Amino acid sequence: MQPIELQDQNISIHLPCKPFRLTSQKILGKDIHLYFSCTEELVCPECGSVAGNHGYRPGKKALSAEPIPPYRRTYWHVAKRKGLCPSCGLMFTESVPFQFKARHVTLDLASKICTMMDAPNANIRTTAKILGLKEDMVRRVHKEYLLEVEANIPQPVIHNWSKDSMIRNQSPPKEQV
Ligand SMILES: [Zn+2]
Repeated sequence: MQPIELQDQNISIHLPCKPFRLTSQKILGKDIHLYFSCTEELVCPECGSVAGNHGYRPGKKALSAEPIPPYRRTYWHVAKRKGLCPSCGLMFTESVPFQFKARHVTLDLASKICTMMDAPNANIRTTAKILGLKEDMVRRVHKEYLLEVEANIPQPVIHNWSKDSMIRNQSPPKEQV
């Protein structure tokens, strides 16, 4: 696999950050910090009207994301706007579709944690070490993810990647012309 070029234009394509965009990045020690904001219209979650932007919610903890080699850890700093709805008067903070529940991790990282934890002989300590996370974070995210899956039965969320790639290897999809 080709290493990801750490330039704004290139890296954005690889990041599951929609509708937010990468605005800047910073390397601190062995970690990379990525900064995101959204320029799309703010929509009231209550009535669907277009809302006014009333500044940004002050700096909250960054989200841990899947590590981007060669960096040890990857942090996503997400600037959330505050909205005020002109129709119903609701004050709200814009939602971040790629955040896993109230945890400070991205959905992709949560999914990765659970895929790793599903492997035979997997354990919290090793998973945490590989992903550069605290063990407690791995434990909590895994637990919440499983609860989510249970709540969604009969539509499980966890994807069986290994099985899927086996099938794919046996019969590669033909290109549609
Ligand atoms: Zn409204």
